[in-house]
Amino acid sequence: LVAGAGVSGRSAAQALLAAGAAVTVTDASADRLAALASLQAQGADLVPGLVEPPAGTDVVVTSPGWRPDAPLLAATAAAKIELIGEVELAWQLDQDRGAPAVWLAVTGTNGKTTTVSMLESILRSAGEDVVACGNVGLPVVDAVRAGHRVLAVELSSFQLHWSQSVAPFAAVVLNLAEDHLDWHGSLDSYGAAKARVFAGNSVAVANADDEWSTRLAATAPDGARRVSFTLSAPEPGQVGVSGGDLVDRAFGDGVVLASVGDVHPAGPHNVANALAAAVLARSFGVEADAVARGLRDFQPGAHRSVPVAAAAGVSYVDDSKATNPHAADAALRAHPRVVWIAGGLLKGADVDDLVAANADRLEAVVLIGRDRDRFAAALARHAPDVPVREVTAGDDAGMLHAVRLANEFARPGSVVLLAPAAASMDMFTDYAHRGWAFADAVRAVLAEDPATT
Ligand code: ADP
Repeated sequence: LVAGAGVSGRSAAQALLAAGAAVTVTDASADRLAALASLQAQGADLVPGLVEPPAGTDVVVTSPGWRPDAPLLAATAAAKIELIGEVELAWQLDQDRGAPAVWLAVTGTNGKTTTVSMLESILRSAGEDVVACGNVGLPVVDAVRAGHRVLAVELSSFQLHWSQSVAPFAAVVLNLAEDHLDWHGSLDSYGAAKARVFAGNSVAVANADDEWSTRLAATAPDGARRVSFTLSAPEPGQVGVSGGDLVDRAFGDGVVLASVGDVHPAGPHNVANALAAAVLARSFGVEADAVARGLRDFQPGAHRSVPVAAAAGVSYVDDSKATNPHAADAALRAHPRVVWIAGGLLKGADVDDLVAANADRLEAVVLIGRDRDRFAAALARHAPDVPVREVTAGDDAGMLHAVRLANEFARPGSVVLLAPAAASMDMFTDYAHRGWAFADAVRAVLAEDPATT
């Protein structure tokens, strides 16, 4: 039984059908199920709204975002039927192949997609048959079925929660900060889900600058090789930054891997992502020059600190992907003077520390979205002199209004930064929709105010 007819559900059902299983797919939405009509032609049953597994079910493969207390999953657990996610299914299918792929896994609160994409680029430049998969977009099951030799796997905490036996060759937890607490219940259980990435792997990679990452990597099995990375000068066993270079003292004796200038977009958080990617690649034996080439060739993803326009000395930067306070902190720190557009769904997170740490760089703040009162309260406490405006319209028109207000505060040298620190679904379909709405609004506002162009 496949629970959830989304992207990974479709791939799981296809893989199971190909393996000769009898497959049922269920989803609360009949429309989403209808999109899988082609699977019906291959023999799958599509049944909307199941709240318990049909008699004879051997295994339930759940969509990663479903909560364990969803009625169908609770009934599955009560009936002691095996309950796994699509990543676990991929792992099991891969182990059944004669020559399983090498899994290099990346998890953490922020930087996952950037890091697996950098890792893919580095491995490609080393001539490896690699693909980035998992939370980055391509289901792991599809990557396994395509038969690639190396998988750069991005794993969310949800995917790890449903992965009982996955044991990557090398794995990193980039960082850990408050996010998804509404799903996991607490930072401890969120961390416990992330720590699963180290179960049984042979190389455990920690971010030495992040307390949680270090603590979680320490739970790796005794036999694992422990390596860490740092933005400071590396000690033996570390990869770090020294004299403007990324330097390896873990897999080499002070080998220069790349220059900080090879990392883009610039910013300390991306250097950390590059170090993590480099460590994973080096753990697999990749040569130093392939690391530099791979980082130079890397194409940054949309909505991740991307400049969308510049006019009259003001630049406009889209970091819509900053969906939690920790990510927004990284985005804010890259600029000295910011007119900040923030707000949305906070998912249980707190913004006091974020506001307090960045108060000095804020020229003004424009708040959007449902939880803007929580932002306003934190700003009143920690940045009482910073002007704050609130936008009530909850759609693309709201974003247009927000950019207009932000523009009134921007001066030459300012950055108008969309880094919401919150999820987008109260106003937009997703973070990408929010980012495109921002870029459209910037273009519209610059067109309506010729004095700024
Ligand atoms: P993820 O896949 O974990 O969501 P992304 O690579 O898509 O991460 O980056 C998401 C956002 O997180 C970026 O837009 C940026 O604001 C922030 N970010 C990226 N890397 C880091 C990092 N190492 N530490 C903190 N924030 C980061």
